[in-house]
Amino acid sequence: MLQLLVASSNPGKLEEFRLAAAGEALHAEVVRIDPLPALRTIPAPAEDGASFEENAILKAVYYSQFAPGQIVIADDSGLEVDALDGAPGIRSARFAADTGLVDSPDANDNTDVWNNIVLLQKLEDVAQADRGARYQCVLAAARNGAVIATASGSVEGMILTSPHGTGGFGYDPLFYLPELDQTMADLDPAVKLSLSHRGRALDELLTKLL
Ligand code: IMP
Repeated sequence: MLQLLVASSNPGKLEEFRLAAAGEALHAEVVRIDPLPALRTIPAPAEDGASFEENAILKAVYYSQFAPGQIVIADDSGLEVDALDGAPGIRSARFAADTGLVDSPDANDNTDVWNNIVLLQKLEDVAQADRGARYQCVLAAARNGAVIATASGSVEGMILTSPHGTGGFGYDPLFYLPELDQTMADLDPAVKLSLSHRGRALDELLTKLL
């Protein structure tokens, strides 16, 4: 059984990794995914990479030093909006913080709500047809401070003019999937994982590691 330790304190992401580990999908019979023990006690590294890939790698490499011999995986992900030239991109978690609206991102506060408000404001004058966007995710796996694999996934959608649905996290209530006529926040968590950027990246990563 391959064991992977996830280095993420984002509750939405952790929930999706937990689901991946528990579900029938994603090689659950041969892979075990657990949170990196005592992550909260480890100071977070500066996420100062210039791309999702650089940030995912720096997090995986850094955190793997706290679990010698184990495979640690880290995710860097975000939303790219065409009408905003790809923003917020790697700044997705800090979109509202970057405008000065809130002090700093904090998974336990209303950061997601503020981020969605900022996104709606910035797209106020953009017609529905021009509100194309995608989620991107890069996963990196590292052991003893060295990268052993990376994988990426994306999913295309549109940004609505008002939120819909109660599931998921982050920008999910505004992220509309035209072919399903639902937002990411409307989807059953297992369905989201089966088609999401994170689910696709995880599937590719597991294929490389197994
Ligand atoms: P990271 O922790 O620096 O990778 O930030 C990722 C940010 O991108 C999250 O805080 C969300 O704002 C956004 N994001 C990434 N994946 C998702 C998703 O699956 N749904 C909604 N928002 C997401």
